[in-house]
Amino acid sequence: MLAHLFRLHGLLVASHPWEVIVGTLVLTVCLMSMNSLAASNQMCSWNECPKVEEKIHSSDIIILTITRCMAIVYIYFQFKNLRQLGSKYILGIAGLFTVFSSFVFSTVVIHFFGKELTGLNEALPFFLLLIDLSKACALAKFALSSNSQEEVRENISQGMAILGPTFTLDALVECLVIGIGTMSGVPQLEIMCCFGCMSVLANYFVFMTFFPACVSLVLELSRENREGRPIWQLSHFARVLAEEEDNKPNPVTQRVKIIMSLGLALVHAHTRLAAENPGQNRTVDGPIAKRLEAGGTMLPLKLSSMDLEQVITLGLALLLAVKYVFFEQTETESSLSLKSPIISSPQTQRPRGTGECCWKELSAPKPQKIMNGTIATNYTSSAASDLKPSPEADTAFREKAEPPGASVDNGPSVSCFGESFALTPCVPQSPEARTLEECMAILSDPQRGASFLSDKEVMNLVTSRNILNYKLETVLETPERGVAIRREMLSPKLPVHSALACLPYKDYDYSKVMGTCCENVIGYMPVPVGVAGPLLLDEKQFYVPMATTEGCLVASTNRGCRALSLSGGCRSRILADGMTRGPVVRLPSACRAAEVKVWLETVDGFNAIKEVFDRTSRFARLEKLFVGLAGRNLYIRFQSQTGDAMGMNMLSKGTEQALHRLQQQYSDVQVLAVSGNYCTDKKSSAVNWIMGRGKAAVCEATIPASVVRELLKSNTAALVELNINKNLVGSAMAGSIGGFNAHAANIVAAIYIACGQDPAQTVGSSNCITQMEPAGPEGEDLYISCTMPSLELGTVGGGTNLPPQQACLQMLGVQGTSSNQPGENARQLARVVCGTVLAGELSLMAALAAGHLVKSHMTHNRSKANLPETPSSKSETAA
Ligand code: NAP
Repeated sequence: MLAHLFRLHGLLVASHPWEVIVGTLVLTVCLMSMNSLAASNQMCSWNECPKVEEKIHSSDIIILTITRCMAIVYIYFQFKNLRQLGSKYILGIAGLFTVFSSFVFSTVVIHFFGKELTGLNEALPFFLLLIDLSKACALAKFALSSNSQEEVRENISQGMAILGPTFTLDALVECLVIGIGTMSGVPQLEIMCCFGCMSVLANYFVFMTFFPACVSLVLELSRENREGRPIWQLSHFARVLAEEEDNKPNPVTQRVKIIMSLGLALVHAHTRLAAENPGQNRTVDGPIAKRLEAGGTMLPLKLSSMDLEQVITLGLALLLAVKYVFFEQTETESSLSLKSPIISSPQTQRPRGTGECCWKELSAPKPQKIMNGTIATNYTSSAASDLKPSPEADTAFREKAEPPGASVDNGPSVSCFGESFALTPCVPQSPEARTLEECMAILSDPQRGASFLSDKEVMNLVTSRNILNYKLETVLETPERGVAIRREMLSPKLPVHSALACLPYKDYDYSKVMGTCCENVIGYMPVPVGVAGPLLLDEKQFYVPMATTEGCLVASTNRGCRALSLSGGCRSRILADGMTRGPVVRLPSACRAAEVKVWLETVDGFNAIKEVFDRTSRFARLEKLFVGLAGRNLYIRFQSQTGDAMGMNMLSKGTEQALHRLQQQYSDVQVLAVSGNYCTDKKSSAVNWIMGRGKAAVCEATIPASVVRELLKSNTAALVELNINKNLVGSAMAGSIGGFNAHAANIVAAIYIACGQDPAQTVGSSNCITQMEPAGPEGEDLYISCTMPSLELGTVGGGTNLPPQQACLQMLGVQGTSSNQPGENARQLARVVCGTVLAGELSLMAALAAGHLVKSHMTHNRSKANLPETPSSKSETAA
C-alpha cells in the first residue's frame, strides 16, 4: 500500500519534471521572502532560540574547524565512491542533488537566523556531514538502467516505491533522534542538532521532489535523438532493480524503527508541553549560538581566529579538489573496466573502446530475466573485426529475433524465454590497453586476481594461451564468468553468431559440475520434466519424474500408472546386482592366454584378484570373473556390487588395480585397454542381455478385464496377440537383442535424464522383454510382466550430485546413500524404472491395439511451430 503510494508519487514527479522543479524553486524562494517569519527566533529549534552574550572560546573554533574538515573529507569520499561507478551522469546527478539540497538548507538556515550568513557558515558543515548520497544515487541508477524515457519514468517510480518508504522512515527517525539534542539544555548541542534536523528535512524534501524530477528531465534532454537510443545507459546498472529489490530492508529493523519513532515522538510531545510552562524558557549562552545571534558584531575577535580556521579549511578543500580533478582522473578512467567486475556481473564488465560495439538488451525491464550476458556475449569478441555480424548472419538473426510487431528502430533483437531483446551499440569508453604481462601480473597477484581484469583482457590471455580455455572456470573469480567468456569467444565462430542467445547459463551451480560432470561448459540445457503417477508399486506410491520433449509420453505413462493403480498395483523383484567392466589383455600365445584363463577361474586366482579389487572401494566387492578368449586375447568381465553408485568409475578403478595384480602373476600379460567392450557399456550387446549388468529387475501385474476395456480401451485377447506378433516375433524378425518391448527406452531415457543417470546407458538399460498372457478364470484379465536384466543406474555419483537431479531422486525417496544397506536406494530406483516401463508398455500397447497411436501423436506431439499450416495438417490435428 505504502509502496504503491510512493510509486504513484514517483510516477507523478517523473512525468511532470518541469512543474515539480518550478514548484520546488518557487516554494524555496517563497520561504526566503517570508520576512515575518525570518524575524522570529523561534525557529532555530523546537525550543526557543538561544541567546548568547559570551565571547567565543578558541576551543569552539577548533571544533568548528575540525567539523568543516571532516565534512569536506566526507563529501570527497562520497564522490570518490560514486566515481567508481563509472558514470558521469551519476556524478552529475549527485552533484546536482548536493547543490540543490545545500541551497534549500541554506535558505532555511538564512531564513531562520534572520538572513545571517554567519549562521550558514556554522551550519553547512553539519549539513554536509549528514547528507547521504547513496539513496539519491540508487534512484539515479534506477533511471540510468532504463532504455527509453517511458522506462525512465517507470523505473523512477519503481525506485521510489522501493526506496521511498525506507527513506521516509529513516528521515523521521533521524529527525526525532537528533531532535532530542535540541532539548538537551546544552546550547551548542541544541544548535548543532537544530542544524542536523534541518539538514535531514532538506535532504528528504529534495529527494522526494526536485531530485527525481531533475533526473527525469536530465535524461530526457540527454537522449541521443528523439527516437534514438539512450546514451546514458550503463549495462551494469541494469541489475540495480533486482539488487535493490533483493536488498529490501529487514522488516524487523523497520519495525524497530517505527516503534522507536513512536517512542521518540512521545518524548518530544512531553518535553514540548513542559516547555510551554512559564519559567521554562531558557537563555542560552553558548558561543556558537552567540555568533549566530550576534552575526557580524563580533567581527574583530572573529577575524583573527577565523583566519587560521579558514586557511585550514580552504587549504584542505583545495588539496582534495586538485587530487580529485587531476590525479584521480587518469587512474579512474584506466581502472574503470577493472573495477566494474566488483560492481557488476562478469558479462557486463567488458571495456568499450572507441569504435567498439557491444550489445545490450533494449526491452527487458526485469534485469533478473535478462539474458544480457548472452546477447552481449555473442557480439563482443576479442577482435574488433569479429564484432560485426556477417550480413547473412545478421539477416538470419533479425529474422529469428524480431518478435512479432516489434519496432524495427531498435536494431536486431531476439526473442527468448518470452522476453524480447534488441541489440544496440553501447556507450564507447576509452580503456587504456594493458599488456599481456601486466594482465598476467594482475592475475597472479593474490590481492587483485581475475576480477581486476576486463573480459577483453581475459580473452586476450586465453587467445595467447596464458589462460587455458578449459580452465576458465577455475581461473576466474566465479565459474559463471568463465562460462560467459567462453561463450563470448565462441559466438563469433559459429555460423549464426546469436546461436547461444537462447542457451541459458546464468544462476547455475557450476561448482557441482566442474571436475565431475562436464567440461568446456557454455550453459545448461533446460528439459521439461513431467510427472507420471502415482505408480502403485509393491504397495507404495511413487510419483515418477520424466524429462522428455516427446509429447504424449508422460500422458501415456500416466495412463498406464492409473491402470495399474486400479488393478491393485504391480509387484517387483531385484534378480541381480552387479556392475561389470571387461578389459582386454593380450598374451604371447593363445595357449598362454588359456593358462591365464584357467588360473583366473580357480578359487586361488579369483581370491588373489578379489583381494586387490575390493581394496579400491568401500562398496565394490568382486563377485565374478567371466573370462572369454579369442586367439591370444583374454576378455575378463569383472562383476561387482557397487552400493548405491551406478559404479562404472568404481569398477574401472578396481579393475585397473586387479590387472596390476594379474601382471604380477603373469608378467607377460599386456593390458590393451581397461575396457575391451566385454563389459558392455553403452553398446547393444548380448552379454548384457544374457548375463545381466547393473541391476536385473522384474515387474508384474494383473489388469482386470474391466480396466483393460474401460481405461485402456482394448481387450486382453487383442493385447496378447499384439504383444506376441510385435514384441516377440517382430523383434526376432528384426534380429533385436533385448528389444522385446514396445518402448522401454522411452521411459528409461526420460527417468534417467530427470534423475541424473548417464543417458548413454539407456542403450543397455532398455533391454526388456514384455510378456502378456490372458489371466483370470475367464481369461479376460491381462497378466503383464517386464523383465529388465541390465539396468545401469545409481543414486550417488555422476549427475546424481546435481541439485535438480537430486530433487527428482528425492521425489522417489531414493536420493543419495541408503540409510539401511548400501545399494538399497539404487535397487529401489531400478524397481521404479521397471514398474514405470511396465506402465508405459501397457498404455502404448493398448493405444496400438486400439489404433490410437497416430491420432494422439498428431494431437499432442506434432510441432506446430516449425511447420506452415496446410489444409491437410489442419485436418490431421482435428481428426
Ligand atoms: P563415482 O562418483 O565415480 O563413485 C562413487 C563414489 O561415491 C565413490 O567414491 C564411493 O566411495 C562414494 N560413495 C559414497 N556412498 C556410497 C554408496 N552408498 N554407494 C556407493 N558409493 C558411495 O560414481 P560411479 O557410479 O562409480 O561412476 C559414475 C560416473 O561414471 C558417471 O558420471 C558416469 O557418467 C561415469 N561413467 C564412467 C565410465 C568409465 O569408463 N569410467 C563409463 C560410463 C560412465 P568409494 O570411494 O569408497 O568407492
